[in-house]
Amino acid sequence: MELWITEQQNEDVNFTCKVNSTIYTGKSEFQEIAVLDTAYFGKMLVLDDVIQTTTFDQYIYHEMIVQVPMFTHPDPKSILVIGGGDGGSIREVTKHKNLEKVQWVDIDKTVVEICKTYLPEWNPDLEKNKIVDLKIEDGIKHMRESKGIYDVIIVDCSDPIGPGEQLFTHAFYQDVYSALKEDGLFVQQTESPFYHRELIKGILRDVRDIYPIARLYTANIPTYPSGLHCFTIGSKKYDPMTPLASRTPDFETLCYSPEIHKACFVLPKYVKELVL
Ligand code: SAM
Repeated sequence: MELWITEQQNEDVNFTCKVNSTIYTGKSEFQEIAVLDTAYFGKMLVLDDVIQTTTFDQYIYHEMIVQVPMFTHPDPKSILVIGGGDGGSIREVTKHKNLEKVQWVDIDKTVVEICKTYLPEWNPDLEKNKIVDLKIEDGIKHMRESKGIYDVIIVDCSDPIGPGEQLFTHAFYQDVYSALKEDGLFVQQTESPFYHRELIKGILRDVRDIYPIARLYTANIPTYPSGLHCFTIGSKKYDPMTPLASRTPDFETLCYSPEIHKACFVLPKYVKELVL
């Protein structure tokens, strides 16, 4: 019998794809975890029935959430990743030289362990990279307790339900502001401009209320709802729309480039409406 996975994207829309085999299923303290081998998208991590990352398109998400803020800051040395239990964002951060501190905070030890075991391709060098300090802790608590220490904060969180819910609030963005150095910036994945319009508007309202610079950008990520995904940046000083021409990747990327960096902030009018 054929096996299929279905993600409910909203009350009226499902996304379904064929599964070759189940690699792992289990339940942690926080969420249900599945690693599947799918027929078209390769390996897939699913948390609480929501697709998180797949072999097919993970590089787009991870390069776009990490490299856009990393190439906005002129000299990022102290980095925090909240969430990102699959290790893909940490892989992208650690492509940079001159890092002094890479703090990684995920609430769920089981997700991190399962990804290390079953999705090692997401970050083959994770164990070797001594600069990365993993803390198993709620990102909200970590943020509340951190003051003025990070150049770049990457919020690679799950959807605003379950353990990720409080990561989408005004209070959290205020704590992120306090955790950043005086010229720091943060980025967060902020869902689909088709299905989550009110959420995105609310996030931008909150971020704009706190940060002098608030920007929205998009990337095409086929396995995420609607295929078009938003990211939001709040910055104290550097505008991601005018990155420094002198800073370009000296490592391999499959999606990110200085041209894509500029282009991703050019929004179609129906997305621009969310920013106004
Ligand atoms: N790219 C993904 C997406 O948008 O579908 C996000 C992937 S990543 C696997 C999400 C991670 O956020 C998970 O590892 C989860 O454990 C973590 N997470 C959720 N809530 C969190 C919180 N409050 N603090 C820290 N990590 C959290």
